[in-house]
Parts: sequence; structure tokens; C-alpha cells
Amino acid sequence: MTIDQFNFAGKKAFIRVDFNVPLDENFNITDDTRMRAALPTLKKILANGGSLIIGSHLGRPKGPADKFSLKHILKHLEDLLGVEVQFANDCMGEEAAVKASALQAGEVLLLENLRFYAEEEGKPRGLAEDATDEEKKVAKAAVKESQKEFTKKLASYADCYVNDAFGTAHRAHASTALIAKHFDKNSKMFGYLMEKEVKAVDKILNDIQRPFTAIMGGSKVSSKIEIIENLLSKVDNLIIAGGMTYTFTKAMGGKIGISICEDDKLDLALDLVKKAKEKGVNLVLAVDAKIADAFSNDANTKFCPVNEIPDGWEGLDIGPKTEELFADVIKNSKTILWNGPTGVFEFENFTHGSRTVGEAIVEATKNGAFSLVGGGDSVACVNKFGLASGVSYVSTGGGALLEAIEGKVLPGIAAINE
Ligand code: AMP
Repeated sequence: MTIDQFNFAGKKAFIRVDFNVPLDENFNITDDTRMRAALPTLKKILANGGSLIIGSHLGRPKGPADKFSLKHILKHLEDLLGVEVQFANDCMGEEAAVKASALQAGEVLLLENLRFYAEEEGKPRGLAEDATDEEKKVAKAAVKESQKEFTKKLASYADCYVNDAFGTAHRAHASTALIAKHFDKNSKMFGYLMEKEVKAVDKILNDIQRPFTAIMGGSKVSSKIEIIENLLSKVDNLIIAGGMTYTFTKAMGGKIGISICEDDKLDLALDLVKKAKEKGVNLVLAVDAKIADAFSNDANTKFCPVNEIPDGWEGLDIGPKTEELFADVIKNSKTILWNGPTGVFEFENFTHGSRTVGEAIVEATKNGAFSLVGGGDSVACVNKFGLASGVSYVSTGGGALLEAIEGKVLPGIAAINE
């Protein structure tokens, strides 16, 4: 079922959103992007004559805690939706059930943080540090058992289920995946945000216009290895940027000074170079670097070949020759995936490489390429440089997007499609 096909008139919809927004010490929302991202879905259901039961998590509580209460976002949700929003202090209690059952068309109920219950994630809590494996096993079985009741209760509030929380789609939690089993195929669906994310990932994985270029940046090879391996059988060009560069450079015999490097991943880097060759993938590595004599924005800097970094110096961004090299490849591409900055973009003096990559992607997009930017830091990059509107799609998912690109089936997506 799709959200556009379903008739919500007179129906109660349980909608799982990702309202895990950052709050300051006075509980003011410092970035409401995630709330805004769910609005099209919420508004559509209300306009269609449905009512909303909204479930979300906020932070990583270990049990009920005022700090992680969703009541802090209630007022802002009302402002965004332009309607009054009721609140249930406990997503499981009598109050939630009564309020949900009394909902009329056009009304909205926000449930308290689902993660106040261990059952949401299905992981035991409060285990002693010295718990034995047997005790852990028993506790896990117990929470999995009570998770069934928890999930059933959440499902009982509503006539249909909508998942619009892409950020948690890679987790098989009660409200993101398990709950879907309580609804038949005709009464469960993705929200608009989730639909867009699924479509964007599908274009990158299954509907590729060539040449396809992936730009993988960030700090560590180890955290990107599975994605890189999966991409090697899909892309034409694989650009390696960011801190990962130096693990490759060192593995190939270059001098990297004190640049970030995973010494236990040198063989792995060489193996990736070999695999790229075997598969005919154009692996594009940096040729020069902007180096610094300290890990600081105010450090002294200069440019040098990437494999000739002097002792005591470290590469904190790509150099001008590399910028040109990367930009050329990107501008000639028809499908582009960008994950991870080319340098320490948090320091103003080391943003130039990431900005150049972002601008090249925008230019390619203008010329008809499909571009997907995703994974926390690259999203921060395009936002910082004001380039978000120039790319085809900016994903809201960090871990979820990366797992999807790794080729994994995301439980939150599978549960709707089953
Ligand atoms: P990731 O979370 O793996 O995508 O990595 C993003 C982080 O990598 C950012 O915080 C960057 O500052 C960092 N990073 C990128 N290039 C470098 C570099 N050359 N040296 C150290 N850190 C880097």
C-alpha cells in the first residue's frame, strides 16, 4: 500500500517518526530538520480526515527520564502542524489507550518516548556489570518476550501503520519493524520521507546511469570497508578522500608524517586497490594534500605531494591538484554518491576540498546527473556551504543509509514490503 492510495478518512494512523532532535540545556530545539521532514506525511493524513498517533524516540534513555521526554517538543510540533497536539505521558499506560481510542478525525496524539521501555529496542537493561553469559541470555529472552506484548499494545491503538523514520530503518525495533506484523499489507505503508529515501537508494543501487562515481571521505577505512567493497561492484569511479587517504598512501609506500592512519588496515587498503583493478574500477586517490603542523585551525599550513608529507606534519585536506582531479571525474558523472568530507571540514581552513567536491556535484547535477549526499558529515558539509538545494537528494539517514548502500536489507523497509 502507498500513502497516496490509502484512504485515511475516519482512520487512526500510528506513525513512527524520527523526532530525535537536538535540544539545548533549556530544552529548546536547536535543529528541527527531522520534525520538518515528517510534516508532509503528518499533514496529508490529517487533511485526508485521519487522526494521528505519533511515536518516536528521543536520545538514548535507559528508562523514563525528564531530560528525554518528548513533552519538550510538543509546543513546536503544534506550531508546525497548526493544530493542538495531545500528549500521553506514557506510551503504554491506560492514558495512552484512552486518548488514542477517543481520537477524532483531524486530532493528534503524541506518545511519550518509546525508548523509555527496554522493549522498544528489545535489549535488556540494568544488568549487573559482572553478569554471566547465562544471566545475559535469560535477560535477553525476557525482554524479547515482553516485547511482543509491547508491540501488540502499540499496534492496538491504530487502524493503520505508517513508517516515516528512515533514520531508524536499519533497526528491528518494536515500533520500526515488529509492529508492522500486526497490520495487513493493505494497511501499512511508508510515509513520504521514507518513500523518497527508498527511491533515492534504489536509484543508486539498481537504476544506475553511468558513469557512476562514489566519493568516500571521512576518517577511517575500517568504518567504510563494507560499503567500499559493495560499491566496487557497482561504480565506475571510486574517489577516496579524507583521513582514509593516508592509510592508502602509507600502504603504497608513501611518507605521511603524523597524518591519521590505521596501521592495522594497510593490507586491507592494498587489497581494495587490487580488487578495484580486477573489477575495472577507476580508483581515484589524492595526489597532494594541505598539510598542517598541528591538528588545529590555526596551524601553519602548506601543500605537498600526498606521499611526501614531512615528519611532524599531517594532511588535513586535499590539495589543489587533487581538487582538480576529483572535480573532473565528478563533473563527467551521471550518478554520484557522496559520503564523508575530504578533510577536517570543521576547521574553516580545511574546508576548501569538501567545498570544491560539493560544487562539482552541484554542477554535474545541473547537467543531468542524479546525486545523493548522505551520512552525517557530508550532510553537514552541503548545509554549511549552502549547496543542499543543488543536489538531487540529501538523505536524512546516517547509519540507515550506509547499511542500505552496503546492500543490507533494512528491517524497517522489509517489514512494510512483506
Ligand atoms: P566519518 O564520521 O568517518 O564520516 O568521518 C568524518 C570526520 O572525518 C570529520 O569529523 C572530519 O574532521 C574527519 N576527517 C576528515 N579528513 C581528515 C583528516 N585528514 N584527518 C583527520 N580527520 C579527518
